[in-house]
Amino acid sequence: MGCVLAVHKVTMIPGDGVGPEVSEATRRVLEATGVQFDWDVQNAGLAVMEKEGTPMPAHVLESIRRNKVAIKGPLTTPIGKGIRSVNVALRKELDLYALVRPCKSYPGVRSRYDNIDLVIVRENTEDIYAGIEFQEGRPETERMIKEISAATGKPIRPDSGLSIKPISITASARIVNFAFKYARSHGRRKVTAVHKANIMKFTDGLFLQVAEETAKKHPDIQFNDRIVDNMSMQLVQNPREYDVIVMPNLYGDILSDLCAGLVGGLGLAPGANLGDEIALFEATHGSAPKYAGTNKINPMAMMLSGVMMLHHLGETNAANLLEGAIAETIREGRYVTYDMKAERNDPSAVGTSQVADAIVARLETARTPTTI
Ligand code: NAD
Repeated sequence: MGCVLAVHKVTMIPGDGVGPEVSEATRRVLEATGVQFDWDVQNAGLAVMEKEGTPMPAHVLESIRRNKVAIKGPLTTPIGKGIRSVNVALRKELDLYALVRPCKSYPGVRSRYDNIDLVIVRENTEDIYAGIEFQEGRPETERMIKEISAATGKPIRPDSGLSIKPISITASARIVNFAFKYARSHGRRKVTAVHKANIMKFTDGLFLQVAEETAKKHPDIQFNDRIVDNMSMQLVQNPREYDVIVMPNLYGDILSDLCAGLVGGLGLAPGANLGDEIALFEATHGSAPKYAGTNKINPMAMMLSGVMMLHHLGETNAANLLEGAIAETIREGRYVTYDMKAERNDPSAVGTSQVADAIVARLETARTPTTI
């Protein structure tokens, strides 16, 4: 008698810069959990820019739409012409409206705090991040400046550039609902909405109003709100006061890195971009170009994104196994990269692929043999 194991077809985008190194390390540990993957490898970013004329070819998007689950390494944002950010475009194109970034302390990490366990839920599709901008000196910018100045009676200097910040009821309700549902399904007790409603009344004010209305539909979960500047201080002084934190795009971008700093840095900060049908997993960090090809960078952020992906695929045992193997490797402190050492030049730091070797070895030991 045998049992048929599910094979998960997943789009894998290695990315550029350090992307291929951390992606390879992540692929190895995911496979070492015993879960079966059929990888649909798709190249994007700088790696294909010259050949395909775009950093985000249509076949990459088609693959993600088809497979519904993807994991990607970081992509460099090309400076100059073309898409402003491939990552932002990808999230918008696939309507991956929620970016979930857990920030969790693992014993053994050098950090000012321990016992941190909070989750950032960032709106991914609008806000000043939507890319609606007017360049200084352009005729359309001059027109906009004149129109806005006339409509508001508030002069704008003629040599200004403009960035537009749309915040809608639709997207705000969707992300706040998502945060409450996430809190409920993950056994969490509180949702905090972050904003600057005292100053930006018609955008952040609208976000807060929608958040308060939405909270009434979820009375089983506590709700409060914080102004973003106060929140930045609160997160440094009392991070354990917070649980699930939901906010518009820009504040989410900034506070994600702040929270990554609370738990040991970008090398340990995973993430998931989620829509109603599609899920795309990626670390918070970027392509760290100066480390590309050096086998130095910490692959754990992408591996922990892989843990999130295993949960999403319903592979709970494998997810717990992999998270446990990463946590043990951190606790032991022998096979960790330079960023996890007290001194950045510590010669005992190992490389990206050695971290993968150590975690694969742990997984192989931990896996109980299946009797068929
Ligand atoms: P970055 O996150 O790539 O790196 C900044 C610094 O943080 C690095 O130099 C390194 O010292 C440290 N760091 C980052 N990841 C680390 C890891 N895994 N282990 C150890 N140390 C790590 O940020 P950046 O330099 O501002 O951005 C580089 C490029 O990446 C830009 O083109 C940017 O647009 C892009 N980017 C992409 C994504 C994404 O693909 N989702 C996210 C952020 C930035």
